[in-house]
Amino acid sequence: MTPIALHAGNPGPYTGEGNWTYLIDGDRPVLIDAGVGNTTHLDAIDAAVGDRQLHLVVTHAHSDHISGAQAIRERRPSTVLSKMPWPERDRELPWQPLQEGHVIATGQGDLHVIHTPGHAPDHICLWHAESRTVFVGDMLVQGTTVMIPASHRGSLVEYLRSLDRLLALDPARALPAHGPAIDDPAALIRHYVEHRAQRESQVKAALRDGARTIDELLARIYPGLQPALEPMARESLLAHLIKLESEGRAQSAASGWVLR
Ligand SMILES: [Zn+2]
Repeated sequence: MTPIALHAGNPGPYTGEGNWTYLIDGDRPVLIDAGVGNTTHLDAIDAAVGDRQLHLVVTHAHSDHISGAQAIRERRPSTVLSKMPWPERDRELPWQPLQEGHVIATGQGDLHVIHTPGHAPDHICLWHAESRTVFVGDMLVQGTTVMIPASHRGSLVEYLRSLDRLLALDPARALPAHGPAIDDPAALIRHYVEHRAQRESQVKAALRDGARTIDELLARIYPGLQPALEPMARESLLAHLIKLESEGRAQSAASGWVLR
């Protein structure tokens, strides 16, 4: 499996250096993720694909992954579009619905669809068994952790379960939408699991010490945090509280969050 990495040309505060999309060459080339419709990206797709029909597969409906689908389809009307449905977020395009277990044919072997919710409810990874390569979308990012947008259908419980599924594949290489290729995915996944367990311990300790609100947890657990990073930290804390609540270990009372 030798995918061609095509940069979406969209650096910014939420995307870092911007998104990677991956083109798998073949009779019908497969493009993983749409980018945002940046002209340099569209030109790179055209140069690589020529007049062949394109199959665009989107990992999830966050805008840096899906919003370019419209522009790609306008330039290349025969493009086949696939993703797992998230009706509230999917752009109005003729998507072919993907589900867990579906197989996508490429010129370099089959990709197996693995539903990996947690970062987003519709998130999928694509597994190429022969090369033990997994396209991970926003599941893994080398050098940082992944945002769980708890108030926008993110779920830490589901995310941890999805990490377990990735680990069980024993991948040799993970290709993420942000940052460089990951040569030891298992090590990064174990680090993530450990990091979340540590954060959970901090949340429980803060609740035990009397913190009751997200603001109070934020002040204790993230002292001195840059204001720009606060929204992400709040979402992360909420994700932990919801996880503890779903496990019967915390509850949201009139006075705020308390341990049970
Ligand atoms: Zn995302």
